[in-house]
Amino acid sequence: MIIVMASRKREDIDRVIERIQEFGYQAHLIEGVERTVIGAVGDERGKDRLQSLESLPGVESVVRILKPFKLAGRELRSEDSVYQVGNAQIGGPRFCVMAGPCSVESREQIFEAARCVKEAGASVLRGGAFKPRTSPYSFQGLEEEGLRFLHDASREADMPFITEVMNPEQVRVVEEYADILQIGARNMQNYGLLKAVGKAGKPVFLKRGMMSTINELLMSAEYIMSEGNNQVILCERGIRTFETETRNTLDISAVPVLKKYSHLPVFVDPSHATGHWHLVAPMARAAVAAGADGLMIEVHPRPAEAFSDGAQSLKPTKFKKVMAELQPFLAAMGKTL
Ligand code: PEP
Ligand code: MN
Repeated sequence: MIIVMASRKREDIDRVIERIQEFGYQAHLIEGVERTVIGAVGDERGKDRLQSLESLPGVESVVRILKPFKLAGRELRSEDSVYQVGNAQIGGPRFCVMAGPCSVESREQIFEAARCVKEAGASVLRGGAFKPRTSPYSFQGLEEEGLRFLHDASREADMPFITEVMNPEQVRVVEEYADILQIGARNMQNYGLLKAVGKAGKPVFLKRGMMSTINELLMSAEYIMSEGNNQVILCERGIRTFETETRNTLDISAVPVLKKYSHLPVFVDPSHATGHWHLVAPMARAAVAAGADGLMIEVHPRPAEAFSDGAQSLKPTKFKKVMAELQPFLAAMGKTL
């Protein structure tokens, strides 16, 4: 339920929050530019009791949230969410590019990658230390050593970094190093993991499962947010279809659909969506034009030598060109890097 306040007085707001909590609900205060609302989120069966809050001083109305994603949806928060992570801004008028190799392979490799993506205009470094590989015999990542390399490289380049966390036990160590926690496509519905990152104090980058609907993606965001972590970033990274020319099929329409239903920033990953480096540039431009808030792009100093996803990784020179070519599209959308 949404409690729309007529008053902005602290005592009126506090009284409503107190009653919501007495009824066994979580209270989420949203002080927007236009109005102040309080979301009451919890077991749907007792929602009729919340209707009585309409009689409290300063309350304008109590209305039902119709969508199943309550905290992630625009019904409760109409304004776009914007997060500041170090010197990177995610959401709003700034367009954010997260770039780097699929996997951290060595200290030298990630330092080299960090320098070149920063120089080309990326604002967040990416790299996998714990890798979700299709085969157990493939490179599984440098684990904690990889986190240390990422941390040092990102600090030298003066940019925050994002890395994947694969299970609830890893959350503590990844959170200790990383600025943004990534939930991979394969784990989008790993509810134990979603709850664990929901308790973390770092923003969460949630990738759409390759066989998941937009609604399911938003419900996964809801799992994270219902644990108290409001800083969620959504990412479309391609879904499975019958098409075999591309690794996945980029569902570009997911961008405006997600922007319509949710206030959360929406990113596109054209690297995993296509699986081929030469398709990254056109899909990156399409993402900007569709209204995305940012991109995640795989860049490797020497893609031919990459331990994982070399075929879809851009060389530094190519990445620089892709970034330059985005400029007119960003300008048309009223965004800046
Ligand atoms: C990745 O970002 O390296 C990755 C494994 O992506 P996804 O979870 O989208 O497959
Ligand atoms: Mn990858």
